[in-house]
Amino acid sequence: MSALTGIKTIRDLSIANQRVFIRVDFNVPMEDGRITDDNRIVESLPTIKYALEQGARVVLAAHLGRPKPGKTAGLSLEPCGARLAELLGVEVHMPEDCVGDAAKKVVFDLRAGQVCLLENLRFHPEEEKDDETFARELAALADVYVDDAFGAVHRAHASVHALPKLMNHRGCGLLLEKEIEALGKLVTDPERPYVAILGGAKVSDKIEVIEALLDKVNAILFGGAMANTFLAAQELNLGRSRIEADKLALARTILEKAKNKKVDIVLPVDLVVGQSTESKEGAIHDVREIPAESMGLDVGPRTLEIFAKHIKAAKTIFWNGPMGLFENPAFEKGTFEVARLMADASAFTVVGGGDSAAAVKQAGGDIAAKMKHISTGGGASLEWIEGKKLPGVEALRGSA
Ligand code: ADP
Ligand code: MG
Repeated sequence: MSALTGIKTIRDLSIANQRVFIRVDFNVPMEDGRITDDNRIVESLPTIKYALEQGARVVLAAHLGRPKPGKTAGLSLEPCGARLAELLGVEVHMPEDCVGDAAKKVVFDLRAGQVCLLENLRFHPEEEKDDETFARELAALADVYVDDAFGAVHRAHASVHALPKLMNHRGCGLLLEKEIEALGKLVTDPERPYVAILGGAKVSDKIEVIEALLDKVNAILFGGAMANTFLAAQELNLGRSRIEADKLALARTILEKAKNKKVDIVLPVDLVVGQSTESKEGAIHDVREIPAESMGLDVGPRTLEIFAKHIKAAKTIFWNGPMGLFENPAFEKGTFEVARLMADASAFTVVGGGDSAAAVKQAGGDIAAKMKHISTGGGASLEWIEGKKLPGVEALRGSA
C-alpha cells in the first residue's frame, strides 16, 4: 500500500469547466512588500497550468504570514498574484477578500481557463480555528477541491481540513502528490541501508524525529550544533560551542536507545572551530582537543570522510539540518560537501527542512537537481517522518 492509496490526484478528477479550488502554498518570504524568494510560487505552477489547460475555472487560495486580528498591513497576497501573473503570462483576478460578495463576484465571473487568487485566508481568524461555517463559505465557491500546499497540511486549518471534507470531489495537486510519494517511501519499506543525516540548531527541535528514526534507520549521522550536544553528553569539552546543557541526559538516553535498537550513531570526530560566529576563518581540531575559547561551527574533513562511506553505501537517505553554520562561508564546507555526496549517491535521496533545502540550493551546480526529492514543507516533512497522520492529507481520502 502506498501513502497515496485512497487519495485522488488532480489527474483523476473531472475539472473541465468546473470551478476548482486549489489550496496553494504562497507563504513566501517578503521584505518591504517585495518577494525575496518566489520558489513556492514556481513550485505550484505545474498544477495551476494543468488545471488551466484542462479548461478549469481556477480559484487559488493561500495564506501569508501570521496576521493579528484586524492587522493586515503588508500581508496581502497581491504581490504573489502579480508574480504569478508574470510567471503564467495570464491575468490573475484578485478579489479583496477570500469569502463574501467580493470573492463571489470574481469567482462566478470566471470563465474556463481563467484564474483568480483569493485574498489571504488568515485575514479571517476562522481559518486557523478550522471553523466549519467559514469552510462552508469557501466550499460554496467551487465544485472541486485540490490541495497542493504541502507546507500547510500538518495543520488542521479550515482551508486544508474542514473544507475538503465538505467537498465531494477532492484530491491532491501534482506537487503534493510528489511529496506524499517521496516521503511515503521513507516511512513504508525503505530500501536498506537507510541512513539519516541530522544536523541544525537544536536537539530539542527534533527529539520526536530522532526517536521515530531510531525505529526506521540503520544509521544516523549527526552534525551541526545538534552533534555538539551529543558530544558533550559523552563528557567531551567543546569550549564555547553551542550546546543545550539541559538536554545532555536526553542525548544520553537517545544514544542508549540507539544501541539497543542496533542503530549506528555516527558523531563528528573533528570540527571546524572559530572564535565567534562571525569569524572569517576556521581551524580544524579533533573533538577531544577543542580550545576552551572557541566554538565548533562545522564538521571537519575526517568526519566528512566517515560520513562519505555511509552515504555511498546507503540505498535510502533522509537529510534534515545543516552540518554547520553554513551562512558563514568559513563554515559552509561540511554542509555543501554532504549535499554533494548525496547528489552523487545512488540512493533514494530526500532533503527536508527549510534551512536544509536552502543550503542545497546554495551549494550550487546541479546538486539540487540531482536530489530525488527536496521537500517544500519544513514542519510537514518532519511530522511525516515522525509517522504522524497529517490532517490535510487525511482529509483528502475517500473522494467520490
Ligand atoms: P532546518 O530548517 O533545515 O530544519 P534547522 O532550523 O534545524 O534546519 O537548523 C539550521 C540552523 O542551524 C542554521 O541557521 C545553521 O547556521 C545552524 N547551525 C548548524 N550548525 C551549527 C553550529 N555548529 N553552531 C551554530 N549554529 C549551527
Ligand atoms: Mg530552520
